[in-house]
Amino acid sequence: METENTTFQSGFVSIIGVPNVGKSTLLNALINQKIAIVSPKAQTTRRAIIGIHNAENHQIVFVDTPGIITPHYALQETMMQSVEQSLQDTDVIVWLTTDKINSNENIVVEKLQKISKPILVLINKSDKSDTEKIQHRISQLGDNLSFANSLAISALHKFNIESLISLILNYLPIHPAYYELEQFTDQTERQLITEIIREKILTHYQEEIPYSCEVTILEYKEVDNQVRIHTEIHVERDSQKIILIGKNGMKIKRIRIEARRDIEALLGKTVFLELYVRVAEGWKNKENFLKKFGYLTQ
Ligand code: GDP
Ligand code: MG
Repeated sequence: METENTTFQSGFVSIIGVPNVGKSTLLNALINQKIAIVSPKAQTTRRAIIGIHNAENHQIVFVDTPGIITPHYALQETMMQSVEQSLQDTDVIVWLTTDKINSNENIVVEKLQKISKPILVLINKSDKSDTEKIQHRISQLGDNLSFANSLAISALHKFNIESLISLILNYLPIHPAYYELEQFTDQTERQLITEIIREKILTHYQEEIPYSCEVTILEYKEVDNQVRIHTEIHVERDSQKIILIGKNGMKIKRIRIEARRDIEALLGKTVFLELYVRVAEGWKNKENFLKKFGYLTQ
């Protein structure tokens, strides 16, 4: 008979912070897989994404969240609700920041002051800083917030990632695993595919274009070891459709080639990818579209 394991630890750890501090990079470093897309642009992450760190005696469920901002439209409101939800559901909070003060930081501090859960402050991008600056920053942060512990890391260079895991284990409850031990994310293959396409759009377009696109899958068919994926890119206006497609379709072609390469690597199969650009007039502020795209549940 199987005896109950009384030392196994499992729990949820929310990674929060302002945009662009490296939350998604950290999630990928912790899981050693590319689960969350990363870009130098703010607000790349639109939904909370789970990455699961499995080991013999523990399972840590990390939740990467959208960067904390003051919302200006309905989509951003749903993004901030997903941050709130993850703060409520979590066992430990990781507040990721850098050695620089950010103008949105007070919103983060206000949220954290109301929550009585262990908070770990991480100073990321330590590769671009020094011990003195980091120490100074940590002591300044301590003036406004009481936190359980702090650590300097570099998500990009995977510095102190193991130390972070050890640190988290000091605060993680004894609990059976929440997920199957071989599972490393809650993202479905389809979600990973649409996120790959969104990442290419974030890389190759400027200004409002990346923020105006939503990607959905219309058809996914597997025939003779080849996968045919028909996707739609929804934009807010006609003018954006023209920019996205580019002269003679050259710009969208680049997205298709790069996305197909990454999707083939993900699936390990030959992929035929179709991208169809559609106008969903003002979708970021419209309830029906936000529901259709899965940002609102009812
Ligand atoms: P998020 O908005 O907080 O999820 O941030 P991302 O993970 O998308 O990263 C934003 C940018 O910061 C990207 O260009 C990353 O490559 C970069 N970045 C993340 N972590 C580090 C780090 O440890 N060092 C440096 N130098 N850059 C980093
Ligand atoms: Mg992110």
